[in-house]
Amino acid sequence: MDARPTWLCPDLAARERLLDMDERLRRPRVAALGLLGACVLAALPYLGWRPLVLLLCAVLVVVVVGRVARRLPAPEYGLALSWAFSQIMIATAIATTGGIRSFVLSWLVVPLVTLPARFGARGVVAGVGFAGVLVAAIALLVPVSEPLPLWYATTAMLATLFSVAILLLALMRSDVDHRTEAVVDGLTGMLNRRALEHRLEELRAQAAVSGQSIAAIAADIDHFKRINDEHGHARGDAVLAEVAQRLRGGLRAFDLAYRLGGEEFLVLLPGADVREATALADELRASVGTAPIDELDVTVSFGVAATGGGAFNGAELLAAADAALYAAKAGGRDTVVTA
Ligand code: GH3
Ligand code: MG
Ligand code: MG
Repeated sequence: MDARPTWLCPDLAARERLLDMDERLRRPRVAALGLLGACVLAALPYLGWRPLVLLLCAVLVVVVVGRVARRLPAPEYGLALSWAFSQIMIATAIATTGGIRSFVLSWLVVPLVTLPARFGARGVVAGVGFAGVLVAAIALLVPVSEPLPLWYATTAMLATLFSVAILLLALMRSDVDHRTEAVVDGLTGMLNRRALEHRLEELRAQAAVSGQSIAAIAADIDHFKRINDEHGHARGDAVLAEVAQRLRGGLRAFDLAYRLGGEEFLVLLPGADVREATALADELRASVGTAPIDELDVTVSFGVAATGGGAFNGAELLAAADAALYAAKAGGRDTVVTA
């Protein structure tokens, strides 16, 4: 791959996103084209083999270009050409089934669905322009012929609907995945700092109305650097994941646990006061220390703080919990200190 930006991909992030989305969408695209192919097959007596061969070519190009894309100097243009090829194949099918009156005219919409997620705004503009030129060319250059029998109009439209649905479902799934990745930490399965900011804002608004207190427990694994140094990063990762699991095991359903980065965690307890939170932190401390993790004795220090009820300042609450955690570290670790 060439590192230089292109008109379709102004930066490398855009190109990575394109390649990732292209991979996610490849099978649904083949399925959608396959559905159109099945529809052409149904009209084989009227159409002959040619349109079917054209659609198979389109599928082949999608698969092959997708496979080699990462090896091209500018993958976006390879993928764009493969997209354009699908459109040309569909336009050819339109031309041979009645020209601009063809029942399969709506098939030109199907490949458009995947444009925004892969090629961004520029790709959409170029792609719609290209489809527009194809429509104009069919209207101007292809003589209108007798359309296929009427039952075929229904079949062709259903193929459009199902193909679009296949692609939209794939796009939705990928969107859900990306949103999950954006707020969940991959190693521990805990929520991350970004999720915390949203949640604090919600809790602040809720507390202002309900007057309930919010407690925060800051936790940090003791001498974690030593575990990494002496036993390796992979072992450190395993310890992190297990500590996270033990911490979560001690929480109620609506308590929220976050990994703030490194080996630092935060638990938010809506409705808890400082006494309840301290008791819970003691339980969490015991649950981590109860048995060795991967044959290592691991301990965690905790700092507890709570609001007095009503509206609160999230940053101040976290700072108070952090200060208490710092005191727990200074006091010899493996303890709970309350602000
Ligand atoms: P203290 O008891 O004072 O908290 O000492 P510590 O060694 O735990 O604290 P320090 O902040 O000095 O070290 C934290 C270490 O955590 C440093 C970094 O290499 C390691 N670390 C951060 N993120 C990860 C991770 O995702 N995986 C692994 N294995 N280690 C990580
Ligand atoms: Mg630490
Ligand atoms: Mg730390």
